[in-house]
Amino acid sequence: MNNCVSISYVSSSYLELTRTCHQGCGYCSFYRDDADLMTIDEIRMRVNNLSRRNATEVVFLSGEQPQEFPHIQIALHKAGFASFADYLLAACQIALEANVLPVLEVGYLDSFTWEKFSAAGCSARINLVSAALASNGEALEKSRGRNPSAGRACIEAVHAAMIPYSVGFIIGIGESEEERLNFIEETGRFCTADPWLQDIRLLPFQPTPGCAMRDRPPLPFAAIEKAVTALRKAFPVHHISVPPWLFYRFPELAESGLNDLAGVPVFTGDPTHPNFEIPCYETLKVRLEGHNIHLYERGTLSTTAALNRPEILDTLTHTRGLIERRNLSGLNLIDNDHCFVCGPRNNSGLHIPVNKSVEGHTCTFTWTPGPSYQGYAGIVHGGLLSTLLDESMAYAVMGADKKILAVTADMRVRFLRPAPVGVPLKFVATLVGQRKNLHFARASVILPEGSVLAEAEGRFAEIILNGASK
Ligand code: SF4
Repeated sequence: MNNCVSISYVSSSYLELTRTCHQGCGYCSFYRDDADLMTIDEIRMRVNNLSRRNATEVVFLSGEQPQEFPHIQIALHKAGFASFADYLLAACQIALEANVLPVLEVGYLDSFTWEKFSAAGCSARINLVSAALASNGEALEKSRGRNPSAGRACIEAVHAAMIPYSVGFIIGIGESEEERLNFIEETGRFCTADPWLQDIRLLPFQPTPGCAMRDRPPLPFAAIEKAVTALRKAFPVHHISVPPWLFYRFPELAESGLNDLAGVPVFTGDPTHPNFEIPCYETLKVRLEGHNIHLYERGTLSTTAALNRPEILDTLTHTRGLIERRNLSGLNLIDNDHCFVCGPRNNSGLHIPVNKSVEGHTCTFTWTPGPSYQGYAGIVHGGLLSTLLDESMAYAVMGADKKILAVTADMRVRFLRPAPVGVPLKFVATLVGQRKNLHFARASVILPEGSVLAEAEGRFAEIILNGASK
């Protein structure tokens, strides 16, 4: 495509550990004084859920120093943790065990605390403000010590602990344009050559009802464009992103140097922007149709120093495999739980738990069709039977371990007898052969007394051609 813009993204999701925060940034609609701490069991459950949906990173989000509040201390004590840092270490471990890279967005920690994470296999997000605004408005007047030097000290601490990190520039909170652009330039000089720096995020302030600065106007687009240009100059080789809610301006921002979206959530939504819809990848892709934008997935980490951390090698191999498959496929085979046959979140779907019905390369499940699935009176519509035969064969091809993803190339169905409405119908499918990337399967629909109502044969194209599938 001519003039096609390539923009990368990371398949990511936030996990909000607690909103309790000892700061009170005027631009923030996230913090609370009394928010609970997520339990370790819930973290495990949610991280596993993200892993099943093929996220490659999870961003553990919390307010800064929540352990200063008694209710958080009590929660940590009850859960058996001596400190909030120990709790975060446990969260990182859970993520790595689920093959998802942990990212900490937990505010400014001191160097002693960051040191604890040096072998945790995590990366960090450090968000900077470009001017000391305490005397200049509501942005930082209730924030203790949040200023450019505190952000720089945090970068130094993370660097000393050899933790991969990204830098976010919060802009539009009261700083002058000169302050903003100078700060970008200075920060570039300070850390653009740091092997632990992974990528750069521009975070333009957006007024939301929950924040103290809700009446401030957002930055004009021209100022965002200028900031992207300055970032590109200061960080010539890094991924530079803006949040996905600016997606409709990507083509213009790409001309200024934007080439990334950082984290695109697995599900639509984002706790840091509760009043803005942050589209998930599939929604984003649909909205970008016609804009001549090519989205491709990248990993969280990019520098050699970060990629060679021994703590993450297994997880990294796994996430690289996922990314390679999705980028190679040309099709984005993302299971978002909305499959008509098996998706639990599709309100109009059949909700048949087909994925739990596979052993080896045989898929067996039962479905009792109601009257709304009939064609002629009392007889199940043949199209529905074909759909379920197709589904059962696809699952048989992919197998219980689902090491490959496959799509139907073609199939043939023989209807032998009418299938009655209201009777449990058993679907059995099995893999019968393979040639190159084509897999062959057969399936039947069987009545409880054993008579066969329909048979099918299908060919399925393996979309993933990398080593993991062979
Ligand atoms: S921006 Fe971060 S540090 Fe500031 S109040 Fe919100 S959660 Fe706390």
